[in-house]
Amino acid sequence: MARVESDLSRKRRARKMGRILEETHPDAHCELDHETPLQLAVATILSAQTTDQRVNEVTPKLFARYTRAADYAAANRAELEELLKPTGFFRNKTDSLMKLGQALVERHGGEVPGSLDELVKLPGIGRKTANVILGNAFDVPGITVDTHFQRLVRRWEWTEESDPVKIEFAIGALFDKRDWTMLSHRVIFHGRRVCHARKPACGACTLAKLCPSYGTGPTEAAAAAKLLKGPRAQELAVAAGVDPDLAPAKAMVAADAP
Ligand code: SF4
Repeated sequence: MARVESDLSRKRRARKMGRILEETHPDAHCELDHETPLQLAVATILSAQTTDQRVNEVTPKLFARYTRAADYAAANRAELEELLKPTGFFRNKTDSLMKLGQALVERHGGEVPGSLDELVKLPGIGRKTANVILGNAFDVPGITVDTHFQRLVRRWEWTEESDPVKIEFAIGALFDKRDWTMLSHRVIFHGRRVCHARKPACGACTLAKLCPSYGTGPTEAAAAAKLLKGPRAQELAVAAGVDPDLAPAKAMVAADAP
């Protein structure tokens, strides 16, 4: 018979997992390099269908050349396309950045606004991007429901919802608002480094005891540890009670695309 978990038990289990994630990923942060809200908005738009690393390779040159919203509004399309080429879908992304620049200049005096309502009305900015910007550039707590977040919260049975907005509200109800932004980073870190879409590293996962999906990936330590990713792969193994020598010394983190 299927196990029935009360709302209170689910909340307690989720919060316990949240604390373990905090210990597991003390380095969790927004992986898109940025210094200003505009830079973060641009980087987030560029991150569609590519990795954050790829975006971070492109943005230093981009941010040096385009410093204000007005620069994107008045961009030379061919030049901007050339800069964005390595991120894929560069024609669409060029279009989005030019339209974003124009909208910011026309409606917000060239500044990125700090409210969800205003952000989602801007071209190229959906709810997910708006929450990234709010949480990381304005310190307004936000839950970022990306592909990793969706996969993991369903594997953990924190919610049965599949619609991103419903997921956002369901998870928001389990945690204190002030924890939303960091929780999002930690869940996404876990998704990129441990709980992969195809082969999660169940046998080398700090959440194994509390995870209803334990066994989705290999449970044997040696096979699981090999799947750990990122510069802290060996530390992740230690945190899960696994011999660090079984984990790679350094392994690229997973891409955003499912
Ligand atoms: S036990 Fe497996 S499915 Fe559960 S969080 Fe860990 S890696 Fe993911």
